[in-house]
Amino acid sequence: MSLFYPSEYLDSTYKIDFKRFYEEGYRAVLFDVDNTLVPHDAPADERAKKLFKELQDMGFKCMLVSNNKEPRVKKFSEVVKADYIYKAAKPLPKNYRKVMEKFGTTPKNTIMVGDQIFTDIMGGNLAKMKTILVKPIHPKEEIQIVLKRIPEKVILFFYKIHCVLFRRNQKQHRKEV
Ligand SMILES: [Mg+2]
Repeated sequence: MSLFYPSEYLDSTYKIDFKRFYEEGYRAVLFDVDNTLVPHDAPADERAKKLFKELQDMGFKCMLVSNNKEPRVKKFSEVVKADYIYKAAKPLPKNYRKVMEKFGTTPKNTIMVGDQIFTDIMGGNLAKMKTILVKPIHPKEEIQIVLKRIPEKVILFFYKIHCVLFRRNQKQHRKEV
């Protein structure tokens, strides 16, 4: 199961505390585009632009890693001023590794942010990096994604139980120490 579990599950990409991650030593962030940064096929907006500017000012290296086609990803990358990989074949980890090689980072200080378990998160876990799952920005999705949302819901159900048990265990452990 852990292959499908994100390190963290948050409401939105725009609620991630990147400053904290930078202080913890993280240096690179890989982003899925569709429904992670903007709705599916929507152009880059001011919010996305601002996020990338902030991250780059903080010292993060950023890369768009999308399974979508080049024209879509290229256009987005020009607005947010970040490099990109299109048709990335997520969840295969090869392109995640390629980004780390390019950036000179390791799985220990690299983060993947995405809205899909079976592509973004699974690939990040296979590459052994930190994975952050976010809720999709907009409910309108292509049919092949809608179909993947069903098993995703099952995994998220077990993931939430896993988180509750993990927290309870930690509390117990603290009491014992
Ligand atoms: Mg997506």
